[in-house]
Formats: sequence, structure tokens, C-alpha cells
Amino acid sequence: MRHNGEHQAPLALIAPAARAIDETLGGAMTDEKKGPGRAIVAAGVSIALMAILFTGIVISRDETEYGGFERNRRVLASPQYNGGSFVNPNGVTGTLFSRESLDVAIEYLLTERVDIQPKVAIPVAKIDPAQWTGLPRNEFKYAWLGHSSVLIAIDGNLILADPVFEERASPISWMGPKRFHPSPVTAETLPPLDAVLITHDHYDHLEELTISKLAGKTGLFLVPLGIGALLEKWGVPREKIAELDWWEAREAGSLTFTATSAVHYSSRGLFDLNQRLWLSWTITGKEKQLFISGDSGYFGGFRDIAKKLGPMDVTFLKIGAYNDKGTWRQLHMTPEEAVAEHMDLSGGQMVPLHWATFDLALHSWYEPMERAMTEAKRLGVNIATPKVGQVVIPDGKGEIDYWWRSEENPE
Ligand SMILES: [Zn+2]
Repeated sequence: MRHNGEHQAPLALIAPAARAIDETLGGAMTDEKKGPGRAIVAAGVSIALMAILFTGIVISRDETEYGGFERNRRVLASPQYNGGSFVNPNGVTGTLFSRESLDVAIEYLLTERVDIQPKVAIPVAKIDPAQWTGLPRNEFKYAWLGHSSVLIAIDGNLILADPVFEERASPISWMGPKRFHPSPVTAETLPPLDAVLITHDHYDHLEELTISKLAGKTGLFLVPLGIGALLEKWGVPREKIAELDWWEAREAGSLTFTATSAVHYSSRGLFDLNQRLWLSWTITGKEKQLFISGDSGYFGGFRDIAKKLGPMDVTFLKIGAYNDKGTWRQLHMTPEEAVAEHMDLSGGQMVPLHWATFDLALHSWYEPMERAMTEAKRLGVNIATPKVGQVVIPDGKGEIDYWWRSEENPE
């Protein structure tokens, strides 16, 4: 089984193109069996469509001006910024074009993929805004909203992480990874939010339309260094934006938000590779401490986070969109590594993220969860398996519901 990471060009370019061919040619491209002949036709059309996509990306590319002298100064002074871009502590760098990118593109076109998307509808529990309004100070609950979006009630605050509610995680409205399931909530129907947290600038974590709709109803946007200018451009008032570097913290009432480390990369276009920081978040409340991984490869830094900030009661960890090739392997952890990360963080309950919403990899849509479950069982990790939109009040033991299994995709 081979896999692929998200937003690692050129799959980010080829995959949407191949899907567009699929739609144009009547669905054969993403069928489970496709021969080399089909792949060659698809490759040809893909290249033509990539040209269109390139044009779109060039037009939609975001400027990497950080929004003023002080913001620029902070970027340049960051220990994570070196030689004109942000860098990982272990020296691994994501590149836009490389031999391994080409290998994966070819693999994408030739591999017989299995269960790319669900055959039966993914169950979605609609978010009831009334349940998330007037929150008691001693209540803690959360709802996974699909992919990496999470809604959290803690100490009377309502927090939303990496909100992506629109149809496609793409710079182009009509092309790119399309949702497997409807969002359980819209930006319009959410109650007022105390804080929105962003982990990095990739399209499946940071979406212009969703952010612009949330601008008026959110008190504070906590973002990695370098992202503030994007949000401002999308309508978020400057005074609502806090840009943080790793190990900087922001207090808000009884909560402390600490920007913690991650091994990943950033880009929204062809000319902004690693121009904005990526990070994980630790939320420290009166009684609970939570961790949100964002995207990361596995590295020793998680142990340091727990050493500095203490154990995490709940960890929200990326499990999907991995690949065994080159730097993909180092920038996107596997499900087994996510379980190891949970243990490094002295985690209580593990909540898997980054799966079941977008097709960003070569693995089946449910493989990340099956692998995470197997590893969690092996190591005795308390793993929660909420349905999209389900309200979870952790009670110390994971509620295992194998909702993703069906006749079409048994264990
Ligand atoms: Zn990413």
C-alpha cells in the first residue's frame, strides 16, 4: 500500500486534474481498476488541465508581505526562520518539485486504488447551535466537524480549530479535493466564538470564505507567524489577530494558548513555499489541557511539549494523508506514529483528525482509522471514534463506534 501527502505538489495539481478528467469522461478514472492505457490518456489530459490549474494558482497566489514593519521584523527574528524561509528543527524541507513528486504523480496515475471514497453516506450529526451557546464554566466537550476542524467548549469558552466548511479544499472553487460529506455546521449558524485557531496555511486547514464569514463573530484569531496578513485581507480586523511563534503563549480569560512545534511546511501558491510558519496548539484550561497537532511528521518534539507543559487530557491528532516516499514520510505522520505521538504527549484520550473528509492520498478513505485503531488497541491507548458532528463529553474511556465500517469496507 502506498500513500501520498496532501498539498505536496504535484499531486495537489495532478489529483484535481485527474478528478476533473474523471468527471469529464464519465467516472472511469477513479474506478478501482484502470490500466496503463487509461493512465496515459489521463496523464495527457492531466497535463493540459494542470496548465489551467497552474494559471489559477498563479492568479490566486497570496503575497507573502507580512503586513507591516513589526510583523516583518518578528518573522525575520524567529528562530524558525532561516535563509529566507521557515525551517523544520530536523532540517527536513518540503519542496514543490522533486523526483519523488514525479514518482508519486506517476504512481497516482498507475495505481489501482481501493475504496477511494465512501460507497455509503458518512453519517453526519448536525451541530445544534443551542448546545454550544451559554456554556457553563465547568463544562468540557468537543465535536469533530470533519477533516481537521474541531469545535471545543472549555471553561465557558467556545473554540474552533482549522475551520474548513466549504465544498472543496482548493484555491479554485470548481476543482480540487471535494468533501465526502456535508459539513455538520456552517459559519453562519455557529454561535459567537471566543477564538479560532489556525495551525498552518494549507487549503485543507485555512479557507478564505470560512474565515471571512467567521470574522464578525469571533473574538480572537490565533495564527502562526506570517498568516495575519492573509486574514486581514479576508476581512478580519487587525486587532482580532494574534500571530504566534513556537513557544509563545496568549492568555484569554482562564485559558492559555501556547503555540507548540511541528514538522511540516507551508504554501498556498507557487511562490510562497515555507513563507508562513506551521505549528501545533496546546490549550491549557483550569482543569483540562488539550493538544491539537495540525499537520506534522513524527519527531522528538512532542516529548518536549509534554515535558514543558505537562500531560494532555485530550489529543486531537492527524492520522490521514501519509506516504512512504522521501520527505512525505517525514512531513506527514502515519497512524501508528500518531498513536506514538499521543503517548509522547502523555495523552488521556486520542481523537483522530485529518481523515474521512477529503481524498488527499492514495490510501483508502478508512485505512488511517483502521491502522490507528489497531495500534491504539495494541498499546492500550484510549481512542475516541466520534462521528462527524457528534458531541463528545469525555468520561475517561473511549466510546468505540465502528461507524466507518460497512458491507463495502469491512475490517
Ligand atoms: Zn498541511
